Amino acid sequence: MNNPTVSVVVPVYNEEEVINESYRRLTEVMEGSGETYELIFVNDGSRDKTLELALKICENDKRVRLIDFARNFGHQLAITAGMDNSRGDAVVVIDADLQDPPEVIPEMLAKWREGYEIVYGKRLKREGESAFKKLTAKVFYRFLDKMTDVDIPVDTGDFRLIDRKVCDALKNVPEHNRYVRGIVSWLGYKSTPVEFERHKRFAGTTKYPLKKMIRFASDAIMSFSYKPLKLASVLGCLTCAASIIILIFYAIFRLLNPATVLAIVGIFAAGLVLLCLGIVGEYIARMCDEVRARPLYLIRGKINFDE
Ligand code: UDP
Ligand code: MG
Repeated sequence: MNNPTVSVVVPVYNEEEVINESYRRLTEVMEGSGETYELIFVNDGSRDKTLELALKICENDKRVRLIDFARNFGHQLAITAGMDNSRGDAVVVIDADLQDPPEVIPEMLAKWREGYEIVYGKRLKREGESAFKKLTAKVFYRFLDKMTDVDIPVDTGDFRLIDRKVCDALKNVPEHNRYVRGIVSWLGYKSTPVEFERHKRFAGTTKYPLKKMIRFASDAIMSFSYKPLKLASVLGCLTCAASIIILIFYAIFRLLNPATVLAIVGIFAAGLVLLCLGIVGEYIARMCDEVRARPLYLIRGKINFDE
């Protein structure tokens, strides 16, 4: 069989309520597009019936391929594995929960045919998500934009189409704590947005609890900015200045007793030192991951990959 024109990569983690509908909608859209395609599900260590359902889909439809991870490696590595194993001239990454409407894919393909190498989905609106999620996402994208010199489009997730060239270039970036959408922006290439409204999840609940969200945000910031490290020195200067001011204030007005002043300044300074150590530690931990150079992900099995 020749390579398909389009590969559609779908990470799935505990998506038993969603995967069949996801397959149905994606198949409808891809058949309608008239392109040859492959659908790659990446099972990211699901503990529910996702794998079983995916195997059944693969049995009935040889255009569907499955990569089964040895454990949960996380969303970013799941899409990385899908891209690494894709064969299409264009690769589309889309979430399984149908929050990103598959119907936008033909628009992305049209832009790709015009010559764009990256077509990213820009979220105009987000429906059916908590106020907390919407607010943190909005603040996060803008904060990251201020922190980094790489031009990473705001309000843009991993729902995007990339050309084969970009996909191959991505393979040469073996970073561990990956913020894939940032790395794609860092690569450069000719890109354009396609706007869409993000719907609510088809079923099930988010697989991004607060802990994963924080990890994801800190990976993004630390992969693309050294500003937090600079913050350490700025905070150091500010604390010194503040201590001097407090002491002068005390000398002039004799408001507090000296022991209290010293204790407050001391505790404050100790807190800042620990904070700065923590920031440095976060970078060092990430460096350790790179130095250890463990594989990014481990695959237990692959289905429908050999012709
Ligand atoms: N996902 C994954 N591994 C994880 C968490 C999520 O493969 O550890 C997948 C999930 O199945 C979905 C996509 O990544 O297809 C986005 O996750 P989700 O919709 O839960 O995130 P949200 O849209 O709530 O940010
Ligand atoms: Mg979702």
